[in-house]
Amino acid sequence: MNEPFRPVRAVRYACAVLTDFRIDRLPVDPFRLAADAGIAVEPLSGLRNHPAWAPYDLPSRMGLTRVITIPYPTFCIVYRDEGSSPEQLTLPLARELGHLFMNHYREIPDLSVPGRLFRPEMEREADIFARNLLCPVPVVDVIRYNRPQQARASLFRLNRSAWIHRLNTLNEDRASIDEETANILLYLFRDYLIARRCRACGAEFRDEAQNNACPFCGAGDPEWVL
Ligand SMILES: [Zn+2]
Repeated sequence: MNEPFRPVRAVRYACAVLTDFRIDRLPVDPFRLAADAGIAVEPLSGLRNHPAWAPYDLPSRMGLTRVITIPYPTFCIVYRDEGSSPEQLTLPLARELGHLFMNHYREIPDLSVPGRLFRPEMEREADIFARNLLCPVPVVDVIRYNRPQQARASLFRLNRSAWIHRLNTLNEDRASIDEETANILLYLFRDYLIARRCRACGAEFRDEAQNNACPFCGAGDPEWVL
C-alpha cells in the first residue's frame, strides 16, 4: 500500500496532462485545467454560508492555507478568494490538482476526513507535479537561455516565493526528465517559444524565415510574444 516516493512519475504525469489538455503556452492556468478536467473548484466566499458545506467548517479547516480539497461527498477544491491574488493561488491549486491527477486519494483510507491527509512523499509528489505543470524544466531552460529578461515569476503567474522555489528545484527535476519527455514538452510549446507579434496589425506568427517583418502587413521589427 505504501508506495515509495516517485519523482519521475510526478514529472511524467505533469507532462502527460500538458499534452492531453493541449496546454502549449504560458502562463498555465490551473483554474482552466480544472474546468477542462471536470474538477469542481469553488471560492470559499461562495460556500461559507451554504448549509451543505457547514459541517466542514471550512474557514477554520483552511487555517492559513489558501486551497484545500474536500474529497467527500464529491471531490471539490476550495480556494480562499478573498485576500488572495491569482499569483498566490496558482501553485497551491496546482498542487491539489497533482493529488487528484496522481490518484493519491485512492491511497487514503478515510475519504470523509478533509484536510491534510497525505504522507510527506505524496505532498512532495504533488509539489513536483505542480511545478512541472506550471514551469516545465525544458521550457524554463529555453526561456532562461534565450529570453533571460522574460524568465520572471509574472510570466508563469507565480508569486515571488513560488518562483524562487521553482528555480531552486530545477536541477533536482532535470534529473527526472529524460530526453523524450523534454522533446515532447519543447514540441508542445514550440509555437509559443518562437512566436512574434506585429506592432502594427497585432498578428501573431512564427518568424521561421527570420525576415524580422510581419508576413501579413509587412511592418518591421515585430516584438517577441515572450
Ligand atoms: Zn502586421
